Amino acid sequence: MFTFLPPYVVFATDLVAAFLFLFGLKRMASPVTASSGISYAGVGMLAAVVVSFLYCFGVDPAARSQLGTNIVLVLLALLLGAGIAWWAGKKVAMTAMPQMVALYNGMGGGAAAGIAAMELFGGKTHGGRELSVTLLGALIGTVSLSGSCIAWAKLQGVIKKPLHIGGQQVINGAVMLAIVAVGGYVVFTVHGGAELATAMPGWIWVFFAGAFLFGLLMALPIGGADMPVLISVYNACTGLAVGLEGYVLKNPLLMIAGMVVGAAGLLLTELMAKAMNRSVAKVLFAHFGPAPAHKGGTIVGSLKPCQASDAGIFMRYAKSVIIVPGYGLAVSQGQQKLYEFVKLLQAAGVGVKFAIHPVAGRMPGQMDVLLAEAGVPYDMIFQLEDINPDFATTDVALVIGANDVVNPAARTDKSSPIYGMPILNADQAKKVYVIKRGDGKGYAGIVNALFYAPNCQMVYGDAQAVLVQMITAVRGLGAAPGGKAQK
Ligand code: NDP
Repeated sequence: MFTFLPPYVVFATDLVAAFLFLFGLKRMASPVTASSGISYAGVGMLAAVVVSFLYCFGVDPAARSQLGTNIVLVLLALLLGAGIAWWAGKKVAMTAMPQMVALYNGMGGGAAAGIAAMELFGGKTHGGRELSVTLLGALIGTVSLSGSCIAWAKLQGVIKKPLHIGGQQVINGAVMLAIVAVGGYVVFTVHGGAELATAMPGWIWVFFAGAFLFGLLMALPIGGADMPVLISVYNACTGLAVGLEGYVLKNPLLMIAGMVVGAAGLLLTELMAKAMNRSVAKVLFAHFGPAPAHKGGTIVGSLKPCQASDAGIFMRYAKSVIIVPGYGLAVSQGQQKLYEFVKLLQAAGVGVKFAIHPVAGRMPGQMDVLLAEAGVPYDMIFQLEDINPDFATTDVALVIGANDVVNPAARTDKSSPIYGMPILNADQAKKVYVIKRGDGKGYAGIVNALFYAPNCQMVYGDAQAVLVQMITAVRGLGAAPGGKAQK
C-alpha cells in the first residue's frame, strides 16, 4: 500500500506508541505515579492517531478521487470525538465516571465490530483462518458493545433491577449456538468459493444481530453486587476484539493495544471475582433463570440516630478509628472535609486508618482515587485482607456512605444476593457510626443488619455536611492534649 510516510516511520511510531502504552500502564499501578502514567499513555495514543490519520493519504490509486471527501470525513470524526471526550472529561461528575467508562468500553467493542463489518461487507477478508478471526472479533466486539450499553443503563439507574426470564439459560444457549452455526456457514461457504461481499451479506447481518442480542441477554440478568465482575469482563472482551481485528488488519499497534487491554481486563475480572468470592462462570451464568427469592434475613434491633457533633467528639476521645468510605462519600464529594476531620483526630492523638473494599463505589479503585484526590497519605490506606483483623480491637468504625461492603448478611444470610462476598468487618468494632442520608439501601438493594446492631448509631445527613458539623464540634473543644492547636 502506498503511504504518505515511509513504512519505517510508521513502524517506529507504532513501536514508540506501544511502548508508551505499556510504560503508562506500568506507572498506573501506583497512585503516586498514576497521573503521569495517564499522560504517557495519552501521548502514545496521540502518536497512534496522527499516524493512522496519515494513512488517509495512502489510499489505492483507484480511490484517489475520493481523497478530499475522506479527509474531511476523518477530520470531522476526529473533531467530534475529541470534542465530546474533552467536554465529558471536564463536565461529567466523579460519580458518573463508572457510566462513562462503561460507555467508552462499549465504544471500543463497537469500533472493533465496525472494523470487522468493513472487512466482511467489503469482502476484504480472505482465507478461512482470517475470516474466522474476523468473525470472532466481530462477535466479541458486538457482545461487548450491547452488554456495555446495558451496564451503562444499570449504573445510570435507567434499569433498576436485573431482568430474569424463565428458561433464559436455554434461550442464551440457543442464541449462541445459532451465532456459531451462522459463522460456520459463512466460513464454509466462502471456503467453497462463494464471494463474501456478494453472496453473504444477509447472513453477516444475522450474525451481527445475534451477537448484539446475546450481549443484551447476557447482561440483563446480572445486577446488584455482581456488576463489577460484568464490567471487567466487557473490558477484557473489548481488548480481545480489538486485538483480533488488529491481527486481521495486520496492524501491530492495534494488536498490542488490544492485548494489553484484554490482559488487564482479564486480571481485573479475576480480582473482582475474588473480591466477590465468586467464580466468573457463576457470575455470568448462574443468574439465568427465575430470580432467587431473597428472604430478607433476620433484622434484630432498631435504628439509633445520633447527632454529628456527638459522634465527632466521641471519636476525638477514642484511641483508634477505622474509616470505611463508600459510594455515598463520592456522591457528596466529602473527601476533602473527611481528611480535614482526620487531621484533627490525628492532632488529638487518635490512630486513624482507612479501609478499602475492592468493590466499594461504582468503579474498581474509585475509593483509592477519591482519597488520593484529598491528599490522604497512602500508608494510611489499607485493603480488605490487611485491615479486617484490626476491627475487633478498634474503638470506632466510621462508615461513610458505604452499605453493601459492610453488610453482615454476606456472612450469614444464604438467600442474600451478596452471600459469600467478603465484607469489611466494621460490625466487630467496639462502636460503629454510619453516615448516610436516610434509610436508602445499597446498590444490591438489601437491608443492612449492621445499622440495627446494638453497637451502631446512625448519623443522618449528606456525608460532606455531616463531616463539616463534626469538624466544627471537634474544633469547638479547643486545643488537643499536649497543647497542639486543633486547626
Ligand atoms: P452502596 O451502593 O452499597 O451504598 C451507598 C450508600 O451511600 C447508600 O446506602 C446511600 O444511602 C448512601 N449515600 C448516597 N449518597 C450519599 C450522600 N450524599 N451522603 C451520605 N450517604 C450517601 O455502596 P458501597 O460502596 O458500600 O458498595 C458498592 C456497591 O456497588 C456494591 O454492591 C458493589 O458490588 C456495587 N458496584 C460496584 C462497582 C465497582 O466496580 N466498585 C461497579 C458496580 C456496582 P442513603 O441513600 O440513605 O444516603
